Amino acid sequence: MPRICVFCGSSMGYRDEYKTAARELGLFLSDNGIGLVYGGANVGLMKVIADTMLSKGAEVIGVMPHHLVNREVAHAKLTEMIIVDTMAERKEQMVTLSDGFIALPGGFGTLDELSEILTFNQLRISDKPLGILNISGYFDHLLRFFDHAVEEGYVREEHRSNLIVSENISDLVQFMHQYKPLTMGKWIEDILDESNHL
Ligand code: AMP
Repeated sequence: MPRICVFCGSSMGYRDEYKTAARELGLFLSDNGIGLVYGGANVGLMKVIADTMLSKGAEVIGVMPHHLVNREVAHAKLTEMIIVDTMAERKEQMVTLSDGFIALPGGFGTLDELSEILTFNQLRISDKPLGILNISGYFDHLLRFFDHAVEEGYVREEHRSNLIVSENISDLVQFMHQYKPLTMGKWIEDILDESNHL
């Protein structure tokens, strides 16, 4: 069964649209026979999507470091809870278990996970599609920053455009299906070339 790892807020956020999007994404994934991998918590949007999918009988796997489990935010009713030692190990597991990644609105934790996948794909440590569900323009500022980073020469255009963005769930998942991993050679060669000509 294919699985998507969803990164999203451990908070609900202030707008109903965010909660609705988490619920609708959960329904879409379960209706399409796709399982969920996520942070394993029982709070915020994380709880919304996990509960929605569990109620539809879908597979829901949580990956949580034990120090968070001890703080009683762990979801008790998942198909499986994988407990790891560190945050780094958790992300490794999330990558191994999933066929792609979707970010919903969230805070620093969501940004951290999103950035890690962008970097992994850039370095070809992984080559799985990453989509942002840009509900109510939540990610607009971040996407503008990414464009700025391209304009200023710190992110390559092909790495920027490798990030899939849509405000519509079925479009996003369809774009993810069509995803083509990048080839790396040129990027490393260019960076070496640039540094050798100082
Ligand atoms: P944030 O966006 O800062 O709310 O963090 C949410 C993201 O970080 C999720 O995708 C989780 O994987 C992880 N995370 C942050 N806080 C928790 C928590 N209390 N329990 C489990 N995972 C968390």
